[in-house]
Amino acid sequence: MIFDGHIFDGHNDLLTRLWLSNADDPVHDFIYGTLPGHLDLQRCRQVGWMGGLFSIFLPPFAYVKNNHSDKLTNTSSSDFTPQEIIDICRAQLQLAGQLQERSNGQIKICTTLAQIQTCIQNQQFAIVLHLEGAEAFAIDPELLDEFYEAGLRSIGLLWNRKTKFGDGLNAPFPHSPDMGTGLTNDGKDFIKKCTEKRMLIDVSHMNERAFWDTAEMIDQPIVATHSNAHALCAQARNLTDRQLRAIKDSNGLVGVNFDVAFLRSDGKRDTHTALDVIVDHLAYLVEHLGDNHVGFGSDFDGCLLPDDLAGVSDIDKLIERMQQRHFSDALIEKITAKNWFRVLDTIWQ
Ligand SMILES: [Zn+2]
Repeated sequence: MIFDGHIFDGHNDLLTRLWLSNADDPVHDFIYGTLPGHLDLQRCRQVGWMGGLFSIFLPPFAYVKNNHSDKLTNTSSSDFTPQEIIDICRAQLQLAGQLQERSNGQIKICTTLAQIQTCIQNQQFAIVLHLEGAEAFAIDPELLDEFYEAGLRSIGLLWNRKTKFGDGLNAPFPHSPDMGTGLTNDGKDFIKKCTEKRMLIDVSHMNERAFWDTAEMIDQPIVATHSNAHALCAQARNLTDRQLRAIKDSNGLVGVNFDVAFLRSDGKRDTHTALDVIVDHLAYLVEHLGDNHVGFGSDFDGCLLPDDLAGVSDIDKLIERMQQRHFSDALIEKITAKNWFRVLDTIWQ
């Protein structure tokens, strides 16, 4: 059976890839379908991938310095300057704006579920803006309003680096997520500001203490936009059964990450990984969370994919495996879009 529904996904790093790109005009390339990588508009349309959460992200300094030193203002320094951190995030925000402006109405930055649904009805592509690692906002708190005005509706407070808001999460494999301290008072204050604006709070990169600090203080669904089951792959970034229970109790959601290192039981960065391993995580999460709390969180353009999933064009193969493993049509519709719509609507209202 062929899947003809729409797909809405919880995480990709397209904006960071556009920012890092050396192409003359990567925005044009994305819209008109000649961009290398996991995603571009034409390929997305062909498979019904109608949008998702698009991450604004500060890549590791060493990576930028070694591969994209032209992006730095001072190549002899050992870390980003505070201004560079802000500028990099602003540049990616502006790239999202350009995607919208230059797409001839084909791409829209959305801040409500109604807008997303209108987009899908009109065959338009829906971008929900997400910030992965809120370091820039720790430097300049006023940026929150600026980014919110531009459409930002989802925040991942932490990433690998320690910031004013809390410890990062960067562990060898295998590892428990219980490492490092929880949220700082600044981190808690910041989450409070974001929840007052009805923004999604993403726990995907939090250590366990920060996770529980967040769970305790927010009165909205807990969402892990791109994490998997720790019981199947003991990455510190994956979620323990206890965390899954808390997410379920909050009416939240877990988006399944397609990165092999977050899927495989041996944690290896080995692309010889069957699509069935993604289905294993989906099935485990459905078993622990229920049908209404699992979605996709592909990590396209920011991850190492299994060989059979070269990019968005192959998403049919994954859905076919889900069908072969007896996921019902109703469950597939929920995982591929409806659960995301429900959770975004609940948080944003
Ligand atoms: Zn991530």
